[in-house]
Amino acid sequence: MKLYCEKCGRVEEYQVKAINQTFDVRGIQVDASINVSVCNVCGSEVFNRELEIQNDILVFDGYKEKKGLLTSKQIKYLREMYGLSQSAFARLLGFGEKTITRYENGSIQDDAHDNILRLMFSEENFFLLWRRIRKDMSDSDNKRVEAKISKEEQTTFEYNPKITTSLLFEMDSKGGLAVNGCN
Ligand SMILES: [Zn+2]
Repeated sequence: MKLYCEKCGRVEEYQVKAINQTFDVRGIQVDASINVSVCNVCGSEVFNRELEIQNDILVFDGYKEKKGLLTSKQIKYLREMYGLSQSAFARLLGFGEKTITRYENGSIQDDAHDNILRLMFSEENFFLLWRRIRKDMSDSDNKRVEAKISKEEQTTFEYNPKITTSLLFEMDSKGGLAVNGCN
């Protein structure tokens, strides 16, 4: 494997080394162990796009952890719980098309988006959103979700559309939430 080394002025063999470094992210000090490529001939660092992307995720995940936000890894895990693509998951949540892709690549989500994402760890919450949007989703997306959501959960909701999520709320006929006695 070779990369262009600026110091040597040509492509050279390189090796990958782990280094610990402190980064300033939005005024917060974040310690991260990142991987850099080092030229085998002169020992200077060479630019490796693939590693830069991975390092960004590591550093920003360090920040997210410090701030109590879901990390990129956790968001990916959450999405894969339901077998959805990044864009389908974003659509389900009402986010912009590329939003989940950005979060999984290190971008920092705001608190509101973090809260909505966090609620999706509950299949019941996921189902509330999926129920509303599945008619607009592709058959293959829906098939993957059906394979992931527990049968029990699907049956409960399919055959008992008025199931209460708490004592206060119930589903109305359109799948929305209505406050008992207030409609
Ligand atoms: Zn070199």
